[in-house]
Amino acid sequence: MKGTLQFENIYTQTIEADWLTQKNMQLDVLRTDLLHEFISGNKWFKLKYYLQDAQQKCFDTIATFGGAYSNHIIATAFACKYAGIKSVGIIRGERPPVLSDTLEQAMEAGMELDFVSRAMYNDKASIIQHFPNVYWVNEGGFGIRGAEGAAEILQYNEDPSAYTHIVCAVGTGTMMAGLVAASTQQQQVIGVSAMKGNFSLEEQVRSLLSTKDQTKDFYILQDYHFGGYARHPPELISYMNELWQQHKLPTDIVYTAKTFYAIAQMVTESIIPADSKILMIHSGGLQGNRSLPDKTLAF
Ligand SMILES: *Cc1c(COP(=O)(O)O)cnc(C)c1O
Repeated sequence: MKGTLQFENIYTQTIEADWLTQKNMQLDVLRTDLLHEFISGNKWFKLKYYLQDAQQKCFDTIATFGGAYSNHIIATAFACKYAGIKSVGIIRGERPPVLSDTLEQAMEAGMELDFVSRAMYNDKASIIQHFPNVYWVNEGGFGIRGAEGAAEILQYNEDPSAYTHIVCAVGTGTMMAGLVAASTQQQQVIGVSAMKGNFSLEEQVRSLLSTKDQTKDFYILQDYHFGGYARHPPELISYMNELWQQHKLPTDIVYTAKTFYAIAQMVTESIIPADSKILMIHSGGLQGNRSLPDKTLAF
């Protein structure tokens, strides 16, 4: 296991494929998944300014919310460990007899896990009352500080303004808001929703944008959820194995595989026009894959 964040590992991978050359397209993938084994990709960027704020305000504990395979929970556990700050994870659902690997490792990183029933989980205000003197981070790192951190993701590409399109997965929309803020007026930012029918996402992204960034060109695709959040029908699994075999690109069942699939379809159907130059943000987050039986995936 890597002990620190490896920013130098982040690089941009160019995808070679006939369906791209046929349209004279370039597709590059910004591999933020290589930052750290557990604090993958966008989660570090989203947490960065919350951690800083907590420390400036002299909190010694950060608390947040998530499920048993939450990328955000494990990332928070490790980010807090490295920052020397205590962490509490409020976990949705009763404590199972055997913890998921994700939770096991969050705990080993020093996070205190508190399991709450699903009904209780939805009443976050009353949970918060039970923990005075901790710094709360929204589920998924949603908020302005999260977007501010995510705006720094593009700095890890050599020439981000050269792309016509920037494409990313969307959960809370925090990363997307950061990317919109960091994009130029000439670029289009396309988000691929990991959820089924969450039509408030665009508003959610907008709520994190400054007035000047509201005029930028962005939209969210709603039809690439493959049945819903974290749903992974066999065709998605075979697609992920193909991506690995063809491009050595590891993806996850919740976010990045569906995003890549959406890009491929937009390219072949010319929804993204020929001659475009696309940057996909590989936001990391391979925790969802750990919910699969062994040997389901080729990587
Ligand atoms: C959490 C996560 C997202 C969603 O990010 P938001 O900022 O909540 O939209 C996307 N991709 C991966 C891999 C993630 O882990």
